[in-house]
Amino acid sequence: MDPVTNIEPDDPCTCGSGRPHVACCMHAEEEARQDLDAHVLAGILSWAYDARLDPTRPPVEPFPARAKRSPADGAFYARWRFYTYWPVGVSLLESYLVARHHALSPAEKGWIGAQCEAWLSIWEALEIRLDVGMRMRDLLTGEERFVFASAESRQLMVGACVLARVISFSRKACLCGGHPNPMTRRAGAAAAIVARELVARGRALPEGERIPIAWMQEEATAGMLVDLWEEATAHARTVN
Ligand SMILES: [Zn+2]
Repeated sequence: MDPVTNIEPDDPCTCGSGRPHVACCMHAEEEARQDLDAHVLAGILSWAYDARLDPTRPPVEPFPARAKRSPADGAFYARWRFYTYWPVGVSLLESYLVARHHALSPAEKGWIGAQCEAWLSIWEALEIRLDVGMRMRDLLTGEERFVFASAESRQLMVGACVLARVISFSRKACLCGGHPNPMTRRAGAAAAIVARELVARGRALPEGERIPIAWMQEEATAGMLVDLWEEATAHARTVN
């Protein structure tokens, strides 16, 4: 997860062509990444159903009710649920990696490994590069990345805050599941203050310190952030 090793749009392409990544493999890689994500997610879904990891707590329990509004919502909730789920004291992703180790391709294992390192947080768009992505800052950990996300670069404005998973894969940061309702910089910052208090509650975090990434990766943190974001965006809609 060292941001220094992540490449930026104008860096030489990873394929070795010498051309800037943005003018070389960027779009092809984005498509391949989306296919890989959909494929991995489908594999985890069917395995989780068959494995019945915890009969008292079905893997899809909170998912259908929240995801029914639109396909965009479903894309976010599916990733939040299945990439941040700890049904039996170990994450669903790790159980899946172990159980399906021999059946998974190197690319699938790489994608799952990257998901294990990722986290859901409140990210502010600092800079937009149209049709390429955004420079983003995590308001809770203070981490900054250039995030490759061509579709979102056309939807977000500078200062917009999103509740999203940013993952690092193949030396690139990319967006993998963003809540369909972004907020303004002000509303996002206010939500981040509340989130910070909730995540740090009962733990030793000195004033002004960044939230450790490990805390962000906990299942309870992700669930709390989703609840907080739902409440804040519902409130924002009522006020407007
Ligand atoms: Zn290339």
